[in-house]
Amino acid sequence: SPSRSSVIIVGAGVSGLSAAKVLIENGVEDVVILEASDRIGGRILKQDFGGVSVELGANWITGVGGKESNPIWELAQKWNLRTFFSDYSNAHFNIYDQSGKIFPSGVAADAFKKAVESATQKLKKLEADSCYGIDTKAAKPTPKTPLELAIDFMLHDFEMPGGDPISTFLDFGEREFLVADERGYDHLLYKMVEEFLFTSEGKLLDNRLKFNKVVRELQHSSNSVTVMTEDGCVFEANYVILSVSIGVLQSDLIAFNPPLPRWKTEAIQKCDVVVYTKIFLKFPSKFWPCGPGKEFFVYAHERRGYYTFWQHLENQYPGSNILVVTLTNEESKRVEAQLDEETLKEAMGALKDMFGHNIPEATDIFVPRWWNNRFQRGTYSNFPHDQVVRDIKARLGCIFFSGEHTSERYSGYVHGGYLAGIETGKALLEEIEKEKERSTESENQT
Ligand code: FAD
Repeated sequence: SPSRSSVIIVGAGVSGLSAAKVLIENGVEDVVILEASDRIGGRILKQDFGGVSVELGANWITGVGGKESNPIWELAQKWNLRTFFSDYSNAHFNIYDQSGKIFPSGVAADAFKKAVESATQKLKKLEADSCYGIDTKAAKPTPKTPLELAIDFMLHDFEMPGGDPISTFLDFGEREFLVADERGYDHLLYKMVEEFLFTSEGKLLDNRLKFNKVVRELQHSSNSVTVMTEDGCVFEANYVILSVSIGVLQSDLIAFNPPLPRWKTEAIQKCDVVVYTKIFLKFPSKFWPCGPGKEFFVYAHERRGYYTFWQHLENQYPGSNILVVTLTNEESKRVEAQLDEETLKEAMGALKDMFGHNIPEATDIFVPRWWNNRFQRGTYSNFPHDQVVRDIKARLGCIFFSGEHTSERYSGYVHGGYLAGIETGKALLEEIEKEKERSTESENQT
């Protein structure tokens, strides 16, 4: 017979786990967490590469030093996570053209200033034109030269401060800290779950958390839900929190019975999903400049986003000889579909343009495939419109929606997922309280 609990949480990423914490710590203990993969963390994922631990997913704590305190930064302080301030202000002094020449700093700084001004102007116009808020995508200027294209990529795809008006920067500050800790960014999550799940010596032993449970069907009525998994298990509950990514909601991985109403599916499909790919390359020796102001460098190519943004890890892991290059969207999808050897050749081509043909060949490459991962289908939501977020988040009977994409101010970020989970947990607690009151009232009447 199916197992029955008060609440089923689908997904053990930061949002599902923070929702579980709120529920369990407030007395709703019969919770079941169903996770498709064999680990917690979702889009927070470390991997051994070239002798160190690298982050394939979230890497930065974004939004530090402002008027409010970022809750993820607080957790990082509490658990002594190893973090490094990312000083992007130097990046535009390290922009290379295809013949390996660095753009004079004045030229690059001017182009940067112009790009920011033009984005701000377009935004002002848009704000004046529209009473529905801002569509930051429409506000982008139209860059043309390789230098303009590179700067545009940094500002908008790399989400560098100074680009789009991002509420994370407004509330929490514009500083960003890179997590480079052998225990991984997900160390925060392990520490968090130790507070409410049964663990021993760092191992998760709580049988309310179930791995390799791929949810495929969700049957729901106004007061109960039945969840079917790919391996034929059936779980029943009064409520479900669905914390899978927006990409998964857009795919057909989970069938709803009855189907979701049209306003809901329309909102889900309207949400733009970013694909953001960090490609890791290991070298036998360093050939790129190191030292102050050299952590980030940029390749200006006529194709927007073609191996544009580079970072070395010598500050974090001296002697590791690792470079990271960031690709997004169409370029991400393109490299996901090709063999890594091809990607390696392309990346080496860009590096040879910048540093000459005598540089050593990379000995290893890693290309994460977030787009083709059926439990992700992308990396994060791309600043959806407020009304879209509200519709995606809106509760449907006993189904509560959570996840980074349901955060009205911080969608796309780890702190967005974390705060969204807390909010969902609290909303469900309130509902459970109300339901209790309703049933005592009706008992009293009979
Ligand atoms: P997830 O972490 O995706 O959790 C959802 C869980 O649901 C997953 O574990 C998944 O396996 C599971 N699941 C999916 N389908 C099913 C199913 N059918 N049945 C059961 N389980 C299922 N944020 C930052 O703040 N800073 C950064 O620098 C940053 N960089 C990023 C870079 C990359 C490459 C990526 C991918 C993300 C990045 N983010 C960053 C975003 C951040 O990682 C996410 O916003 C956040 O981790 C999302 O948490 P979540 O709980 O909403 O979703």
